[in-house]
Amino acid sequence: MKGNVKNIIEFYRNADTRELTARADAVCREVHGDNVYMRGLIEFSNFCAMDCLYCGIRDGNKKVKRYRLTEDQILKTIRESAKKGLKTFVLQSGEDPSFTADRICGVVERIREEIGEEIALTLSCGIMTKKEYRALKSAGVNRYLIRFETSDPELHQKLRGGVTLKRRLEAIRDLRDEGFETGSGYMVGLPGETEEIRINNALLCHELGLDMVGIGPFIPNPDTPLGHACKHGLELTLRAVALVRLLLPEANIPATTAAGSIDEKGREAVLNAGANVLMPNITPVEYKKDYLLYPGKICLDEDGLHCIGCLNGRVGTVGKKIIMGRGDAISFTRRSGHG
Ligand code: SAH
Ligand code: SF4
Repeated sequence: MKGNVKNIIEFYRNADTRELTARADAVCREVHGDNVYMRGLIEFSNFCAMDCLYCGIRDGNKKVKRYRLTEDQILKTIRESAKKGLKTFVLQSGEDPSFTADRICGVVERIREEIGEEIALTLSCGIMTKKEYRALKSAGVNRYLIRFETSDPELHQKLRGGVTLKRRLEAIRDLRDEGFETGSGYMVGLPGETEEIRINNALLCHELGLDMVGIGPFIPNPDTPLGHACKHGLELTLRAVALVRLLLPEANIPATTAAGSIDEKGREAVLNAGANVLMPNITPVEYKKDYLLYPGKICLDEDGLHCIGCLNGRVGTVGKKIIMGRGDAISFTRRSGHG
């Protein structure tokens, strides 16, 4: 471990949460100013062939009412939000066999034809082959989010229906090789997780040199095999975000919806602990309630564009301001030679 990384871990181990988050907040404001970037999240399909033990839309959960947005619905959602000024869209789904890479490429090409290059497009659709990622990149996808979920190989394999951490990390490296702005991250408070695993999660983000890091609390879902697992408070998430901010000052780090779902002021607290991104959910309202990864998800009845207004107020309370630009990651801009 390099000296500065070692020092940060040492500080993390010894500092109380107030001290830790204050330092992370200072680093964040130094590098990113008071800016908070907005990403419009569209949950376009809740079909999933996977059976991750933690997830509410896992294949084994037969209570889920499955849906897929049509290409037209996706386009309409983006068109309307782009008119309101959103410049980044995240298309997320389960690992849906009928939404093949080819089909997603078709949607992306239509978006590019209509809206052009001023918006950034991010996908979050799980593991695909390197060839599929390449096709998506040439169709016009800029960024990809795929959390490694936990850095512990045994725990990972157990929670993800036998899929190995090695395979997940290979996907992350493939994405980086194909030129995507690359995001990963993890849940905090998974059953079986230890403090050493939490530190290794943050170190893995650093080692992967991530451009974006999503960290949220694991929230037990009663319709999954982990329904009775222990539910943790916000503190573990605050500590995790702060540590990652210290290790990766330039990364874009969202204050996740999951953090806002376990604590009414959760996202504000995370924005004060090193985060600089928010992801309003702009999925058409009639589908939001069926994309229930975890219970208690906020804003299910709200139109996404209403969420933007609400977030504006919340961001003000922590002395930050919303920026509607693309917000490309500093590390990515430098890597791709435009910085
Ligand atoms: N299928 C894709 C994207 C959708 S899942 C994938 O798995 O990558 C998006 C994220 O939701 C997952 O990466 C996981 O970290 C999070 N998630 C799933 N179940 C959760 C739960 N019970 N509590 C908190 N976050 C959860
Ligand atoms: Fe599917 Fe993603 Fe949920 Fe796993 S976490 S079951 S891959 S949607």
